[in-house]
Amino acid sequence: MYKRVLLKLSGEALAAGRGFGVDALFINAVAQEIAEVAATGCQVAIVVGGGNFFRGVAEQAVHMDRVAADHMGMLSTVINAVALQDAIEKTGQTVRVMSAIAMHQIAEPYIRRRAVRHLEKGRIVVFAAGTGNPYFSTDTAAALRAMEINADCLLKATSVDGIYNADPKKDANAIKFEEITYMQMIQLGLKVMDISAVSLCKDNNLPMVVFSMRERGNILRVVQGEKLGSLVTA
Ligand code: UDP
Repeated sequence: MYKRVLLKLSGEALAAGRGFGVDALFINAVAQEIAEVAATGCQVAIVVGGGNFFRGVAEQAVHMDRVAADHMGMLSTVINAVALQDAIEKTGQTVRVMSAIAMHQIAEPYIRRRAVRHLEKGRIVVFAAGTGNPYFSTDTAAALRAMEINADCLLKATSVDGIYNADPKKDANAIKFEEITYMQMIQLGLKVMDISAVSLCKDNNLPMVVFSMRERGNILRVVQGEKLGSLVTA
């Protein structure tokens, strides 16, 4: 059973079947699961993505300045964080959104010690605006924040039930890795996470579990130590 986890939720996950924006029903279900995890006493911090609204590397941004596009991407994560905060609050749990980009009217500024204090008090913390820097991803933000708050594990919730040697949605012969190292992920060119996030996890011995959040209850199962998805170690 993990005591403190960093859960990475992609923007796509929050869009559920819609592909764009947030799916209110799905976000409520996810919030309920997160609340159940917090109710067990596990401290939960979350990094949300923003791909359901905008990505700096997206097709529609090809003619844009990359920094401007990444600023839009980071703002997208704030929209998701506010939606998630609202949904989690409705479950009765206390939540704080902390943003890497100052926007005091909407979120607290990210201050590491304060984030840790929130967690110690049993509050769920949602980290918004990625790392606050362009040219990064929210996967890298997740790895960074997980290390900063000394999380036991980085939980990457996706739409696939683990890491495969090929895309299981396209290749019926794709094989799932129960366990894999970050080095193997790099060598095999697996695109579960971008390379800067992978190397950050590798260099700092941060374990990660990649699992599907399509099945209800999976977040709690992983936190309680059930072998689900793929375990990545350094
Ligand atoms: N982003 C950024 N710096 C960060 C994190 C994110 O510039 O530290 C921007 C980047 O443009 C990215 C977008 O925010 O494409 C949304 O994040 P991401 O693509 O990681 O979201 P996800 O795929 O998890 O939904």
